[in-house]
Amino acid sequence: MSYLIYRCDCGRVLYSKDTTKTKKCPCGKTFDVKKRRILKKAETIADATAEVQKMQEEIYGGVCFKTANEL
Ligand SMILES: [Zn+2]
Repeated sequence: MSYLIYRCDCGRVLYSKDTTKTKKCPCGKTFDVKKRRILKKAETIADATAEVQKMQEEIYGGVCFKTANEL
């Protein structure tokens, strides 16, 4: 089994098992996982969550956001 990593239209990075057919984003949108463009695959859930976190940081970028968020 592997995990698929993809983005919702709202910008969130999400992951699910490759057997999952539909996914509901926290923004409320439900979509067909098979039709999303898959950004990455991960072999374990730990890898998947690490990738999602890394990509969120890249997208929302950067040090400024992160620092402001943490303070
Ligand atoms: Zn969304």
